[in-house]
Parts: sequence; C-alpha cells; structure tokens
Amino acid sequence: MERVDLHVHTTASDGTLTPRQTVALAGELGLAAVAVTDHDTLAGLPEAMAAGAELGVRVIPGIELAAEHAGREVHILGLLLDPKAPSILEAAAWAARGRDERNRRVIEALAADGIPITAEAVQAENPGAVLGRPHIAAWLAGHGYVASAKEAMDHWFRSGQRYYRPRPWMALDRAAAAIRGAGGVAVMAHPLQYGWRGQALEDYLRAGMAAGCRALEAYYSEHSPQDQAMLLAAADRLGLAVSGGSDFHGARKPRIRMGTGVDGGLFVPAAVLEGLEKAKF
Ligand SMILES: [Zn+2]
Ligand SMILES: [Zn+2]
Repeated sequence: MERVDLHVHTTASDGTLTPRQTVALAGELGLAAVAVTDHDTLAGLPEAMAAGAELGVRVIPGIELAAEHAGREVHILGLLLDPKAPSILEAAAWAARGRDERNRRVIEALAADGIPITAEAVQAENPGAVLGRPHIAAWLAGHGYVASAKEAMDHWFRSGQRYYRPRPWMALDRAAAAIRGAGGVAVMAHPLQYGWRGQALEDYLRAGMAAGCRALEAYYSEHSPQDQAMLLAAADRLGLAVSGGSDFHGARKPRIRMGTGVDGGLFVPAAVLEGLEKAKF
C-alpha cells in the first residue's frame, strides 16, 4: 500500500530543507504525496508546487496555524487549500505579525540581559523564513550563549520561564474558517500533544468540530500504536476524517524521518486523502 506524509516543514518556517529539497526527498522516498505545512506561512508553496510538477511528486498545499483552546496553543493544519485565497493569506499575515511581535519582545529581553542579538541577525541566518523561537534558539546556540538550541527551547522559552513572551492566539473558529474559506480541510494536528486525555481530549475534539474542523491527525510520529488506535476510533465515533504526518523538520528534529517518523513507526496510508477530499464539503 502506498504511503503519504501530510505534515512537513521547510525553510519557509522552522524546517531545515528548502521546499524544493523537501519535495525531492519525498520523491526519493517514493511517497504518493507530501503536504507542505509550514507554520503560519504559505511562502514555501510556490517553490514546492513547481518542484512537484517538475519531479513528478504530488504536493498538497497546506499550512499549520496556531490557535487557542482552553488557554493553550493548539495547532490546526489546513490541507488541500488554495494558497492564493484571501481568507488564508489574511490569517497567515495576522499570525505572522503576532509571531514578529513576540520575536521582537523575546529579543529585547535577551538584549536587555546583555546578549547582542537582533532580529536582523537571526533573519540573516534564515533567509526567507517566517521566524519563530526555534530560530532564536539556534542563534543563541550558534553564538555560544546556550549549550544547545534545545536547552533554550526547553529552559528559556516555555511558559513561566525567563524569556517566555506570549503572542496573540487566533480563535479556533477563525483558523478553521480561514482554511475552509480557501477550499481546504481543517485538521486538528497532534491532538495528544497538549496533555489532554479522556474528557479533556473529548472536549477539545468537540470544540474543534464546532469551530469547523473536519478531521484529526491520528497518524503521527509521536503516537504509540495505542494512541493511534484510540484516535482512529475517536474519529470514527465523531464522524471526523483522519490525516497523518511525521511533522518532519529536517535536521532540527533529527529523530523524525519524512514518511516513516521515529524508528520507522509511522505509516500513513494514501487512502486518507480520499476521506480528506470528502471532508472538504
Ligand atoms: Zn504543530
Ligand atoms: Zn508541525
């Protein structure tokens, strides 16, 4: 059976392969399709789509939007969307402004503590990328201010830590509406990543559905076989389509391989695409 990977990041956000390299790798791996789903940006899609046409790889246009539920940042994937649609361009622009504002405040706080970091310096190391905390963490590690980017991500930037700064969150229904307005399907990404189980998970899935999400990401690099079975059953019970992907970021998350996840444990059957196509309507 053919496999797909419907959750992949490129240098347009915090991945380390360019859109073209990403699509070429999907082709080498023999994936039936790859969805390019950068954080809050569609900027990688023209290059990815062109590479797909040239290399004979099916590229599904996507995005990963940050939204809010129960006081936490949650991620909504938009798949099979029109990247030129005004609704999704506006949502991406709004999210990017929020990211930029937070980056500015994080960098200001670092600079106030004597670290000679500027937004321009971080951007120069990541040309064309929508910047986020991973890029700032990489700069800090690269310039010797922290032992590793992971240490900054885990001990400096999380909620409650010294350099945590919040950013405005998009309402769940606004994120889903932006995706649906672009003809896409809104997918609740990695629903187990937030620590919600049992009723809390059920509440989130139902809130997502009420907001306009029509699918959940049941196949995911970090899911155990039990997690996957539980989410497939939940999707079936709630009438949601299922999606799946690795959340590949290249060298930034080296354990995660495109198409096969961690230790080869991921297999996303190409048949999920039929369900996602139907869920658009
Ligand atoms: Zn995510
Ligand atoms: Zn992701």
